Amino acid sequence: MSGKLFVIGFGPGSFEHITKRAREAIQESDVIIGYSTYVDLIRELLTDQEVVSTGMTEEVARAREAVRQAEVEGKKVAVISSGDAGVYGMAGLVYEVLVEKGWTEATGVPIEIVPGISAINSCGAILGAPIMHDACTISLSDHLTPWELIARRIDAAGMADFVIALYNPRSGRRTRQIVEAQRILLQYRSPDTPVGIVKSAFREREHVVVTTLAQMLEHDIGMLTTVIIGNTSTFVYDGKMITPRGYQRKYTLSADEQPLKPHQRLRVENEPWSLEAAGEADETAHSSISSAPSDRKEAQGGSVTLATPLIENTDSGPTATAPVTATATAVLEAPPATQTVQNPLDWAMQALTAVNEAKGIVTQPASNSGIRPVSSFTPEMIFECAVSPGVANKKITPQQMMALAEVAGEKGELEYTPHHQIILRVPTASPDSITARLRQLGLILSPIGDVLQVKACDFCDGEKKDGIPFAEELHQKLGGKEMPKELKIGFNGCGMACYGAVKEDIGIVFRKGKFDLFLGAKTVGRNAHSGIPVAEGIPKEEIVSLVERIVTRFKQEAFPNERFHKYFQRVGELEGYAWREPAKAEIENAACGD
Ligand code: SAH
Repeated sequence: MSGKLFVIGFGPGSFEHITKRAREAIQESDVIIGYSTYVDLIRELLTDQEVVSTGMTEEVARAREAVRQAEVEGKKVAVISSGDAGVYGMAGLVYEVLVEKGWTEATGVPIEIVPGISAINSCGAILGAPIMHDACTISLSDHLTPWELIARRIDAAGMADFVIALYNPRSGRRTRQIVEAQRILLQYRSPDTPVGIVKSAFREREHVVVTTLAQMLEHDIGMLTTVIIGNTSTFVYDGKMITPRGYQRKYTLSADEQPLKPHQRLRVENEPWSLEAAGEADETAHSSISSAPSDRKEAQGGSVTLATPLIENTDSGPTATAPVTATATAVLEAPPATQTVQNPLDWAMQALTAVNEAKGIVTQPASNSGIRPVSSFTPEMIFECAVSPGVANKKITPQQMMALAEVAGEKGELEYTPHHQIILRVPTASPDSITARLRQLGLILSPIGDVLQVKACDFCDGEKKDGIPFAEELHQKLGGKEMPKELKIGFNGCGMACYGAVKEDIGIVFRKGKFDLFLGAKTVGRNAHSGIPVAEGIPKEEIVSLVERIVTRFKQEAFPNERFHKYFQRVGELEGYAWREPAKAEIENAACGD
């Protein structure tokens, strides 16, 4: 007996997308069995094979006929399905017929399932990259599955934020299901959720529409169509539907969700399943995004540019041990004024969601499509902020240490940095109790990221305390402000400058009652250098406003991601101080070694 069964998925319908093995299997076969439309699609491949084509509904008859011809007549029989034969195709049915007959691999006719490109893949490719992440296929045909079960699956997929590919979305008689599917999904996803509608992918009358969940029914949807519905992260760019690979969102004290900037999204830690995780992809991805002109547009248009006047008031602190802490407490809790003006509705929705979440209520989506509905799915939020014991004070008390350990808990982390700070990261969407507790213990909390930080010395443990008020004033006025790129102001209380003020972006050294100013150190890299000494003997009353003016110009004029030293070199002058070429360090290879 030389009979054999092939069950072949021939892909979307174009010759190029049929696999080599599928073509070989068709050529090896004596008989081809399939739905007549499908047989027509692969007719070019046929040589002298016998063809048994039937109507669409005669699937069981086709499977039985295939098994009979292979088993009884000893023929090589190919059963063909579009896409993949294992996805709403013929593979399972052929096995069912075999099982009914007591077939086993050892004793029965050989069978080979030849995989093909399913509609979720072919339509996904045409639309861009809508799948990417966890996705599912749901057939809306209730021919063999009760509608209640299909509806439950749509509901579950909606709730769990799967990208969804709807197969068999609508036929001439079956029109209600797609309407119902849309209704169910709108309970979980924004009306703006991208939706791709692909008809006849890679076939003659291919037709592609990218629309939204709200508007999808306004387009032609039929039996040759696959409808792909994005998840809560899917976006449309230049007509393409794209689902990013990760969800995790980090946010800091400004209390805004910080959408990952492109270079952050490409970091390996955001995709722990990636094969690159072990390699050096991080470095490459990171450095490939520099301050190119297009960067500027990107950052201004799409990312975290909300003004966060975090520490602007200086006079309204409640009583706490350290005066600086008290100030920070009062002001950090105030919502950013600019944002309130920009979009009060967003704030209102966020507040409503937070309140409802605390009560365990899922807010229903509003019918007005201008309002983002609240999904019962929330991506994991990681709260992060920098913690330090004071501007001048460098000593953390055991109580503070214990509190930090407790708030970090099992899942959080504490990272020790070179900037006199500990970074606290905790997975939580409501960090208020954490921040309140740490502040109560006198710790200073600051946002992290591209913000300004004042790095002062310990003023010889308070012995050289004359400079402290200036350091604190700078921290209160500028600390935590968002910048185009992280900006550190080094502040040292005597000419020893042992805390390395001259090695920061802006260096201030208090000496004999006056200030020396250093600008534009290159703080990182093998060719790092200290700041250019631009002035000596600046009077006490002038230093804070002078630094404020320099910082304001940097904030307004620098490109996103432009470091201060590059900015200073580019503009050539700041507050009358000219940029000068720093002394070049010749880097030579070490003489040792062989
Ligand atoms: N086995 C096939 C699916 C068969 S069910 C596969 O894996 O793709 C039939 C449904 O598949 C259609 O209603 C449509 O939703 C989808 N489909 C199959 N081929 C398609 C194509 N070329 N373009 C768009 N949708 C397609």
